[in-house]
Amino acid sequence: MTSPSTDPYFLVKAQVRAFSRGGVCLSSDCSGADDLLNWSCQHGHQWQEQLGKVLRGKWCPTCEQQQAKNPPTRHRRR
Ligand SMILES: [Zn+2]
Repeated sequence: MTSPSTDPYFLVKAQVRAFSRGGVCLSSDCSGADDLLNWSCQHGHQWQEQLGKVLRGKWCPTCEQQQAKNPPTRHRRR
C-alpha cells in the first residue's frame, strides 16, 4: 500500500469550490478536509483556511470584513 500525501478527491473538491466562488485554490496538494490550504478570492486576497471550513461555506475573510463595513445592499437606517 502506498500512502499518498495528496488525495485528488479533496483537491478537486477544493478547486471546484474555489472556482464556484470566483477564486482559486492555490495549494497543489491536500490529503484531507482538515488540511490548511492556500486560497485566493476573486479580488486577489490570499489566506489560509481548512478545506472542510471552505466546503461548509467559509470564504475570504477580507471580503467578509469589507462586506460587513460596506453592505452591498443598502438598508435604510434611522
Ligand atoms: Zn477577498
